[in-house]
Amino acid sequence: ASMLDIKKIRADFPILNREVNGRPLIYFDNAATSQKPIQVIDKIVEYYTMYNANIHRGVHALSQEATDLFEQSRGKIRAFFNIPLAKQVIFTSGNTHSINAVASGAHVFVKKGDEVIVSAVEHHSNIVPWQMLCERVGATLKVIPVLDNGQLDMEAYHKLLNDKTAFVVVNHVSNALGVTNPVKEIIDAAHEFDAMTLIDGAQSCGHMKLDLQALNADFYTMSGHKMCGPTGIGVLYGKEEALNALPPYQGGGEMIDQVTFEKTTYAGLPHKFEAGTPNIAGGIALGAAVDYLNHVGMDNIAAYEHELLVYGTEQIKTIPGATIYGDVTDKAAVISFNVASLHPYDIGTIVDKLGVAVRTGHHCAQPVMERFEIPGTIRASFAFYNTKEEIDVMVQALQRAVNMLS
Ligand code: PMP
Repeated sequence: ASMLDIKKIRADFPILNREVNGRPLIYFDNAATSQKPIQVIDKIVEYYTMYNANIHRGVHALSQEATDLFEQSRGKIRAFFNIPLAKQVIFTSGNTHSINAVASGAHVFVKKGDEVIVSAVEHHSNIVPWQMLCERVGATLKVIPVLDNGQLDMEAYHKLLNDKTAFVVVNHVSNALGVTNPVKEIIDAAHEFDAMTLIDGAQSCGHMKLDLQALNADFYTMSGHKMCGPTGIGVLYGKEEALNALPPYQGGGEMIDQVTFEKTTYAGLPHKFEAGTPNIAGGIALGAAVDYLNHVGMDNIAAYEHELLVYGTEQIKTIPGATIYGDVTDKAAVISFNVASLHPYDIGTIVDKLGVAVRTGHHCAQPVMERFEIPGTIRASFAFYNTKEEIDVMVQALQRAVNMLS
């Protein structure tokens, strides 16, 4: 049985009280974005009610209070991911921004004729910036293939590595399949060839305990909104020497040391990468989200979500004709599936009428769909505030949709 008091947790998420199409909302689109507890929502209101001021440059009390809260939040995020120093926590607008911040300066790591390795299960946001980099510097993009069961072909990966490999970028958990990738092995092998590594943590940051020092990636990227925080705030973590080597992505206020028309020198970390007024409310509220996740406990969250995954997988398999993509044990609570040759969009539309929110389509991972020769999937992704009863309602709704469409 779960260590969590799910009823009590659900009471913290106001949105779970609402109805959709006359039925209680069942929210199974957590891989797209998580819901927010009242503690996070209140923090945003509190900021604008009590502390709204620009940070880092005001001598007045409000500015100092806002700055303190923003920097405290950076400290909370540092501790949560076991990052050595607070200055290695760079605030961005989200995971996509974090990846682009690295890729756009990565010409210092990737030279003409070099190779960049991505995986076949990446989100478009961890493909396109690297393609743009390769075009810019004259490097080649190489792809780790995915096996029929949704796991990366690690034998092929080890064969792809060579002296030309300059950067390896892989997601920790695939948003399209939910499969957890062997990132530690991927990072260690890349380092054998002196290649840099970036791990896209969009789907892991809110669902498992992460120790970024132990993982040893050069860069790790996250979105606040996937871990109970607001949209418009994210994190870029980097090793200190990697962040020092990386040129800034944007120029402007806050990121400078000295500006003259002849030459500008940059501020130190983290400010070098934080040009302009940041999302102050978002940064502070992300600290509240981290407090909330700590209170529930990441190990409890991971264990309970795994229970939901196992139960959901069993139940979906009772639907005749159901095929699950990436049906392996080492995965997050994401189930990507189709039923016979029915179109995922048609099923998604009918279950929405029954109050159940699932995702349908290519999940910003078109190459994955092409690999499995499907137009898209239905994706049910669970969070720690979901229940087995909700899964039962979803399966009944799916069965009804299938009956209507067959
Ligand atoms: N990578 C993965 C694996 C994701 O799941 C997502 C979000 N769906 C992203 C990248 C992009 O994140 P964001 O849209 O928050 O920038």
